[in-house]
Amino acid sequence: MKKIPFVTKEKVQEIVKTYPTPFHLYDEKKIRENAKAVKEAFAWNPGFKEYFAVKATPNPYLMQILHEYGCGCDCSSLTELMLSEAAGITGNEIMFSSNDTPAEEYEYAAKLGAIINLDDITHIEFVEKILGKLPETMSCRYNPGGVFQMSNGIMDNPGDSKYGFTTGQMFEGYRILKEKGVKNFGIHAFLASNTVSNEYYPVLAKELFELAVKLEKETGADIKFINLSGGVGIPYTPDQEPNDIKVIGEGVRKVYEEVLLPAGMGDVAIYTEMGRFMMGPYGQLVTKAIHEKHTHKEYIGVDACAVNLMRPAMYGAYHHITVLGKEEAACDHKYDVVGSLCENNDKFAIDRMLPEIEKGDYLVIHDTGAHGYAMGYNYNGKLKSAELLLKENGSIELIRRAETPKDYFATLDCLPVYSKIKF
Ligand SMILES: *Cc1c(COP(=O)(O)O)cnc(C)c1O
Repeated sequence: MKKIPFVTKEKVQEIVKTYPTPFHLYDEKKIRENAKAVKEAFAWNPGFKEYFAVKATPNPYLMQILHEYGCGCDCSSLTELMLSEAAGITGNEIMFSSNDTPAEEYEYAAKLGAIINLDDITHIEFVEKILGKLPETMSCRYNPGGVFQMSNGIMDNPGDSKYGFTTGQMFEGYRILKEKGVKNFGIHAFLASNTVSNEYYPVLAKELFELAVKLEKETGADIKFINLSGGVGIPYTPDQEPNDIKVIGEGVRKVYEEVLLPAGMGDVAIYTEMGRFMMGPYGQLVTKAIHEKHTHKEYIGVDACAVNLMRPAMYGAYHHITVLGKEEAACDHKYDVVGSLCENNDKFAIDRMLPEIEKGDYLVIHDTGAHGYAMGYNYNGKLKSAELLLKENGSIELIRRAETPKDYFATLDCLPVYSKIKF
């Protein structure tokens, strides 16, 4: 599918008068349309709820937009919990799906009334000790091990992943939880990441539904919800076909009717924790070409770097690039598009065919709406950019300001030298 920037060159020239590059830009209209489509795709299940994975795009403004479509929050840390609380999303609208969880985070989650999703059987005792008594509703994360396979091959490798209970531990865990007074149970699993296939959720759902039937039969635990978690992907490359959430919803409905209905479990709610699918395509990183370098290769240096978008450096991830004003020009130049970090993996593109780029050109890096801004860090003392929202009426709203040196130095205020830093 052709990748189209949300903005024209002229629009960016207008925006930079107020907000200089680089910045992340989100498209409100598309975020809303997609959130509505997700809600409709699962409307057949009365208990359905999407818990937006906050880690993907931890911006309260965007979380509140999703909340208008019934989305809660999936949190995995203290500050993510605090963010949800501040956004007015609390109680059972929070799924706390963490791992290696510190005691104070469980405490805070319980205080907010969040649903706690345990990552390990030893955490049953851990949580009981912290809270004095287990909550009435609890969920466990499942990891069957081995590889996760679909019709087009191996999708991921749960056997190598640190998360979740083994099959044996699920049965043992539910028995223990039941004995300890837990009344409502959930099952959670995240077995493959960024799946660009309508098959993932239905295949996962079938496996979890079958497990749920067995668990309920053998342990007597009353299973109230099944959480398909994240993993629904997006097409980062133009040749990939996007997932169709309606087809995915119908696929889950089909296995629900095959497995859960005949077992008398037609009241089980379906939950999801999508991050990438909710936001990924609706964010773009806008950056300016500030240098060109001709050495052993052709380089374009931009004013963004891996601090603004880490996925290419971290996973060699592909992010499509459009040069604004040259959308229709021939891609007849081969470039490495690089940031300024003293790290040779700080490259947004390697050997990418693009139109000829001149200093001052604006580049749009696509699909940065999830795990983009959020993953950033402060290496080399680089500061994180602003986040802007392109509103439905075409105006621009600042939804997070750019960091300043003062933010960077804030944690040094315990030192005498702090007073010498010139801001
Ligand atoms: C990261 C994560 C998600 C979201 O994953 P996406 O691939 O962005 O959909 C959901 N649940 C948990 C527990 C996660 O860690």
